[in-house]
Amino acid sequence: MFLLDSHCDAPLMLAKGADFGRRVEQGYVPGKFPITHVDFQRMKKGGVNGSFFAIYTSNFLDPDAATRRAFELIAKVFDAVERNPGKVALTTTPAQARRNAKNGLISIFLGMENGAPIQKDLSLLRMFNRLGITYMTLTHARSNEICDSCTSPEPRWGGLSPFGREVVAEMNRLGMMVDVSHISDDSFWDVVKYSKAPVVATHSCCRALNDHPRNMTDEMIVALAEKGGVIQINFYPSFLDKEYNAKVSALIDAEEDTQVEWLKNPSDPALQQRMRETVEAMNAVPRPSYKKIVDHIDHVVRLVGFRHVGLGSDFDGIETCPDGLEDIGKMQKIIIELRKRGYSDYEIRQIAGGNFLRVMEQVQRLSE
Ligand SMILES: [Zn+2]
Repeated sequence: MFLLDSHCDAPLMLAKGADFGRRVEQGYVPGKFPITHVDFQRMKKGGVNGSFFAIYTSNFLDPDAATRRAFELIAKVFDAVERNPGKVALTTTPAQARRNAKNGLISIFLGMENGAPIQKDLSLLRMFNRLGITYMTLTHARSNEICDSCTSPEPRWGGLSPFGREVVAEMNRLGMMVDVSHISDDSFWDVVKYSKAPVVATHSCCRALNDHPRNMTDEMIVALAEKGGVIQINFYPSFLDKEYNAKVSALIDAEEDTQVEWLKNPSDPALQQRMRETVEAMNAVPRPSYKKIVDHIDHVVRLVGFRHVGLGSDFDGIETCPDGLEDIGKMQKIIIELRKRGYSDYEIRQIAGGNFLRVMEQVQRLSE
């Protein structure tokens, strides 16, 4: 089995100084979770063979700052991999990933979350691809030069922009996977229309189970599967579970607002206290079980079969985790739950990573 996580925000933690060569103990909040969900030790403990580290930039950065930030995060990943030669290896192809697994190495892939760092220049897209970026999530929380986001207050383009169409065509030519997570429904339908290769949703859940704009409708999942693509289920409790999301969404907004204030004045005791209180209020809401992840997998399987679903944790990019799956070290619990629900070994292998690697192979082959 090749167990693959198609999306985590570990580079953010590397940029904050986390040392993935050892367990990041200093991040522990008593009785809560470690602040980092990922490190190389826990990846090994969880039986994870490969993980996509997202080079994430905020839509609120100006273009040069976004490009600079992308370089910085890539550099941090390069450093972390270089410091752990017997444990992990930077990887850009499924064949290489399988070889790494045979040699006891965990494959670290690079994805880019938000196309802002390429600005309006396809040369920059090509350069990031040469640096090892194998997929690009077209945008994040807001619209950018490429397309609209599912959480933009106002659509800017009504789907892909004219430049966005060029980006998709160039990604097809380069053999980069187009990631439809975070993009608006209209953008999704444009990508399905214009991409010549299968597309992926690297960290998205099902809207039929929780009506959230970040989740995909059944129609979208069917179209994605018909194109040969795959949806990788996100572990974020607010995407997984309707009731949890209803209870916690106002608290999350409060926490984010407080955090913005607090980061400006980290030593202000009143802000520290407010931060503690908002985090405590959030943590007091009972989190859904990790089995919800498997409910979303079941839903996709019922809709389009087992060949079009996988796992995209979003670890280190989410402030809460499902109950029972607090970090990457616990990934085997999903495999055990799939087995309990009657999936065959073959089906589990495909869901665990085979499906995503198949799509990656296909996208890369189409470029040649
Ligand atoms: Zn994301």
